Amino acid sequence: MPTLKLSQQLKPSFWQESLSPPPPCPALQGTQDTDIAIIGGGFVGLWTALRIKALEPDCRVALLEQHGCGSGASGRNGGFAMSWWPKITSLQQICGNEEALFLAQQSEAAITALGEFCARHGINAHFAQKGWLWTATTPAHMDSWEHTVCACEALGASPFQRLSAAEVRRRTGSPITLGGVFEKSNATVQPAALAYGIRQVALAQGIEIYENSGVSRIDYGAPVMLYCPQGTLRAAKVVFAHNAWAAAHKSLTRLVAAVNSSIVATRPLGAQLEEIGWNGGESVTDSQLFVDYYRTTRDGRIVFGKGTAAISKNSVINEVFSADPAGIALAKEDLLHTYPMLSPDCISHAWSGPIDRTYDSLPVFGHVDGQENLFFGIGWSGNGVSPSQLGGRILASLALGRDDEWSRCKLVGRPVKTFPPEPLRHIGGNWVRNAVIRKEKAELLGHPPSLRDRWLSRLAPSGLEDKS
Ligand SMILES: Cc1cc2nc3c(=O)[nH]c(=O)nc-3n(C[C@H](O)[C@H](O)[C@H](O)COP(=O)(O)OP(=O)(O)OC[C@H]3O[C@@H](n4cnc5c(N)ncnc54)[C@H](O)[C@@H]3O)c2cc1C
Repeated sequence: MPTLKLSQQLKPSFWQESLSPPPPCPALQGTQDTDIAIIGGGFVGLWTALRIKALEPDCRVALLEQHGCGSGASGRNGGFAMSWWPKITSLQQICGNEEALFLAQQSEAAITALGEFCARHGINAHFAQKGWLWTATTPAHMDSWEHTVCACEALGASPFQRLSAAEVRRRTGSPITLGGVFEKSNATVQPAALAYGIRQVALAQGIEIYENSGVSRIDYGAPVMLYCPQGTLRAAKVVFAHNAWAAAHKSLTRLVAAVNSSIVATRPLGAQLEEIGWNGGESVTDSQLFVDYYRTTRDGRIVFGKGTAAISKNSVINEVFSADPAGIALAKEDLLHTYPMLSPDCISHAWSGPIDRTYDSLPVFGHVDGQENLFFGIGWSGNGVSPSQLGGRILASLALGRDDEWSRCKLVGRPVKTFPPEPLRHIGGNWVRNAVIRKEKAELLGHPPSLRDRWLSRLAPSGLEDKS
């Protein structure tokens, strides 16, 4: 009798707080039947549901969400809509050159498609396609993009534009920016507005959404039985799209680690943002493994996140993934280091959230516990806002039993480097995390990191980008 661990509702993010949440969909009651059940009402679950309906309109699709759709990572992220070009060398290793190029191109096209989807359905998700700056903020990180840029060029693609150091510094407005490259296809969104908007489209297309319907137990078989607090769903097939919660699932736990990321948002900065000079709407990341990611908002705030990578014992999604004071302090410290002209009291909102990290920071798809009618798509590793659309295509093709370029994609059933079991996972994970924090702090301050911290840091999973 496999069980799933549910969690408390996470503290609302700035994005969620600044919107009125839609009225909840009814919880699952009694015993119901469906063709395909989806567990998880984030971007991955919603795109999968929509894709299934688009391919087979008569297929009954039911989505089960433990709280409200968008209450997980999808409503509390940085809102960077990115491609997979920064992961091209990892993709090449997994899929070979041809498919790596295909997936990277598709991921780039998906960003524009996201904007078109919002326009078509009247979703006001603040979609702004102003590009992304991948920067260095310490000499140790200069040119860390070079290997990736060259790998793209060797495939005949030029998604990245090399800019002069002065131009990158001018665009970020941060005195600590030393150089970088620009990927123009990237966009930013208000992620909670996007999640609520996709949910609305899903409802309009006949997808049954049950909220406050956490699945706590599953009986494998044909049909699969999914048990929620007030009801039971009988499903021919099931898709697991429950992100970091999968890290506590017995058969998926070795594939992903649940790590946190923390974000601070300033109050609207008004003329100060103009003075800083960051007025082009570009999103920015530095080149730390525990990456700083920052962007502006429509109302003139800076939203500044950091991969703070705290973990919990047995991968339980607890308060560390909701509002982690230590992680928030790290994000605030890096914000004030990056923009020293800001006053420490400029912060109006702070929160944390869960990330499902694989070792190579690319997702993995497959069958849960080897069951032929159960599928999973997890491991977005902090880049799922736009690539989740590709995830939806892969999961829909798998669940519908189609033989196409998505079901045959080599991210499906791929061998992955696994995380250790508990208690080594928690103890060792904390050693490595603390070493990375010390190493990267030393580098930012221009000090040499200790040999021990450098060595331990090598054991950490890879980051948002493939770095030289
Ligand atoms: C702080 C933070 C910053 C990030 N920044 C970015 C960014 O800028 N750009 C980017 O591309 N990505 C970013 N990400 C990652 C991105 O948010 C996700 O990859 C993306 O939203 C896809 O999420 P998902 O659908 O897989 O998961 P989620 O949105 O977490 O959805 C999973 C859902 O499953 C539900 N659930 C769990 N267990 C059960 C159960 N047993 N029964 C029913 N429901 C269940 C949860 O409540 C949750 O709503 C960030 C993530 C975080 C946390």
